[in-house]
Amino acid sequence: MALAAEAKRIAAEFDYSTEEVGKGVKEFIREMDEGLEKQGATMSQIPSYVTAVPNGTEKGIYLAVDLGGTNFRVCSIVLHGNQTFSLTQSKVAVPHALMEAKKAHELFEFLAKQIEIFLKTHHNDKFEAHRRRPSQQQYLDLGFTFSFPVNQLGINKGKLIRWTKGFDIEEAIGQDVCALLQKEIDALNLPVIVAALVNDTVGTLMARSYTSPGKTGTLIGAIFGTGTNGAYVEKLNRVKKMAQIDAELGSAAYDKSTGLMIINTEWGSFDNNLSVLPDTPYDRALDAESVNPGIQMFEKRVSGMFLGEILRRAILALYKHQDENIALFKDTSSADNDTSSLTTVAEDSPLYKQWGIDTSFLSIVEEDASDRLRITKQTLEKDLGVSAPSMEDCVAVKTLVHAIGKRAARLAAVALGAVVLSTNKLQEDDLVDIGVDGSLVEYYPGFEDYIREAFREIPEIGVEGEKKIRIGLAKDGSGLGAALIALTASKAEERGEF
Ligand code: BGC
Ligand code: MG
Repeated sequence: MALAAEAKRIAAEFDYSTEEVGKGVKEFIREMDEGLEKQGATMSQIPSYVTAVPNGTEKGIYLAVDLGGTNFRVCSIVLHGNQTFSLTQSKVAVPHALMEAKKAHELFEFLAKQIEIFLKTHHNDKFEAHRRRPSQQQYLDLGFTFSFPVNQLGINKGKLIRWTKGFDIEEAIGQDVCALLQKEIDALNLPVIVAALVNDTVGTLMARSYTSPGKTGTLIGAIFGTGTNGAYVEKLNRVKKMAQIDAELGSAAYDKSTGLMIINTEWGSFDNNLSVLPDTPYDRALDAESVNPGIQMFEKRVSGMFLGEILRRAILALYKHQDENIALFKDTSSADNDTSSLTTVAEDSPLYKQWGIDTSFLSIVEEDASDRLRITKQTLEKDLGVSAPSMEDCVAVKTLVHAIGKRAARLAAVALGAVVLSTNKLQEDDLVDIGVDGSLVEYYPGFEDYIREAFREIPEIGVEGEKKIRIGLAKDGSGLGAALIALTASKAEERGEF
């Protein structure tokens, strides 16, 4: 019983009250406005140069690549023009060494090689034709989804502001990531043009709009995966800093006629100075030992890469509890323990390794409704090298998991709710559409339900407002989205617009 009580006490540190949600929303809207006004604000509010959402009639074949947090995906997409598309894709894990490479070239060379392999496998005709006799017709336009904060200077140009999600290649900062990729593509003599640079959230927003265009289109594209971020449709005249950016760019290199601009919020950096974000000893330790302390503080409480690490630290604290009668995994042979063997933690348990617990662990444990938490027990054994954990241990771990996951979802509601309110869409339309993607929304049980519960607690949204908000999965939408943006970009170029 003592263990259960102590687990509950730790879990309570992750409570995020209705009042805090409200305060969070206010501050979020303030930081959004600040980001629209000036460059270099905490929340970057980056103009994407995408000024319209698709309507489902777009057609053509495009390439798209996606460098996210964990994987690199290459795909080709055929847009059929009737809200449908077909997609061929391949996926590789990004080798850890490349995430922290000395030279940017090492990473981008790897990416270009994957594109070459993909072309040889799936579009060998184009590849071979280009080898024999290069010609303009063989070139494929590529949308480059690059899911990191980039100071976008045009539809296919942008300088890396900072790395996130464990990437750390100093040399790449400040460089144009499209040029870096194009250079390696050219070195391999591939018939590919990097036509558009796209944040995954912008891609998700576009994909959702293409596949389910409503009367009013989609408002937000959001990722709750390894990292978290959102993009939304903003009125161009609200983007006050645009005048200054236009002046710096020399020419207005985008179509102003729609009066809209999709903004990549980079909300992972919301409230980096922790004026309203919740903070526990586990959050603090995680941040201090990360590659980017003091940065991406919202993301570090919300996204998949970090939830496992928060949990690991909370579990360790409970395991190391000085009182043996309270501590986790100290069960000897209680009646609870059907194996009657001693609970032990392997010396090389991932519990002792930074980032040792994957988010999938949280999803599995949260979902477990099996008899005597058999699945949690097995997962503790298999993933964490804990042998013969007791029923009490399993309950305690589940208590912690639940608290950490629920806080993340409620924080996600702060971001989504704030964007919905700041755009005034609840007033203007009868439906507000949000496209989401990422392992948390896809696999963490109840993530959307907790978001909705928090929406209802926000006075300006309430029970009625919550009903008007539609959330839909745009699985792997960034590939389709990047293709759609590559299409817009190449069409505009053909017309000689930029
Ligand atoms: C990056 C964003 C990205 C998000 C989701 C964050 O770490 O800063 O650019 O959209 O992860 O992938
Ligand atoms: Mg991704």
